[in-house]
Amino acid sequence: MIHVAINGYGTIGRRVADAVMLQEDMNVVGISKTRPDYVAKIASRNYRIFVPDRKAIDIFSAAGISAAGTVDDMIQDCDIVVDATPEGMGETNLKKYKEAGVRAIFQGGEEAEIAEASFNAYSNFNSSVGKKYVRVVSCNTTGLARTLSTIRDKAGIESAYATLIRRATDQNDSTKGPINALEPSLSFPSHHGPDLVTVMPGLNVQTVAVKAPTTLMHVHVVNADLSRPASAEDIIAALSEKKRIIVSTGKDGKSSTAQVMDYAREMGRKRGDLFEIFVWKESIKVTGTRINFIQAVHQESDVVPENIDAIRAMFDLCDREDSISRTDSALRIGGE
Ligand code: NAD
Repeated sequence: MIHVAINGYGTIGRRVADAVMLQEDMNVVGISKTRPDYVAKIASRNYRIFVPDRKAIDIFSAAGISAAGTVDDMIQDCDIVVDATPEGMGETNLKKYKEAGVRAIFQGGEEAEIAEASFNAYSNFNSSVGKKYVRVVSCNTTGLARTLSTIRDKAGIESAYATLIRRATDQNDSTKGPINALEPSLSFPSHHGPDLVTVMPGLNVQTVAVKAPTTLMHVHVVNADLSRPASAEDIIAALSEKKRIIVSTGKDGKSSTAQVMDYAREMGRKRGDLFEIFVWKESIKVTGTRINFIQAVHQESDVVPENIDAIRAMFDLCDREDSISRTDSALRIGGE
């Protein structure tokens, strides 16, 4: 049994905590909260709550939430920390984890250099085996890695180009995001291409990104030049074999991110999450050696199964296929 601490209980942290609890080989020893808000109150029904310092224990207590100790106590009490604090905090936290001698997983908001390896279960699971510090790449990079690594395995990729239409912010955030505006990333390529190479070494890829005033999902418009001949049917078959990719039609009503998210809610997924990358089947076209397709990424949840697999890789608990299959089955991925 691997004892997991969740430092940062926001969009990603709360989902990873719940996913850990669904596995047979790991559990959550506690989660950290900085404020005694509604999220902390609900979390305290299921998890031990740890707070920044002793003073905060009293503040939480006054709000009716009993804290089990400080974040330092939590770190001492676990085998691994999943760090899901806001981007940029990882570097400071890493020092604490090193001092305590615990392993840690960081998220995609951190620079690749923070960890010994960047992680995506389909493209490079084995690079994290036995490592102490690993970074699960961002939601966008995870989406691209899942589909492009599957296509690369099937037909090879000479070069790939992706336009990322990014959600401005998450659903629970009312403080940021372009309003009635589109916001292009001003650097070319956007950082997503180099990030993808951290989990798909050698891939020749360029990306551009534009933020749009939506909170639901990211949409990626992807083109790639294949190294070996393959038909659209070959690619559809290869993508469809992967449980973390849904290849489905828009013709039955799932023609926008609004309906794709509604589909996830109808499937009864907790929080309406869609762990899988959704690829519109009609968009998969092969012309000569050029493939085009369009996919949607639920940014709040696609990295969740990757965090679970990263834990198994770091402790070398089982091989890639076994871990992916255990995670998928516990999270009901691909079983709808
Ligand atoms: P978030 O803001 O939703 O959650 C962060 C949580 O950490 C908040 O609850 C905040 O109160 C808490 N926090 C702040 N300071 C803290 C501290 N000192 N100690 C402990 N907790 C603290 O952020 P998020 O969206 O979950 O992002 C976390 C990481 O995951 C970032 O690296 C981000 O880039 C990455 N990520 C985010 C998404 C997404 O779409 N939200 C997707 C993939 C990866």
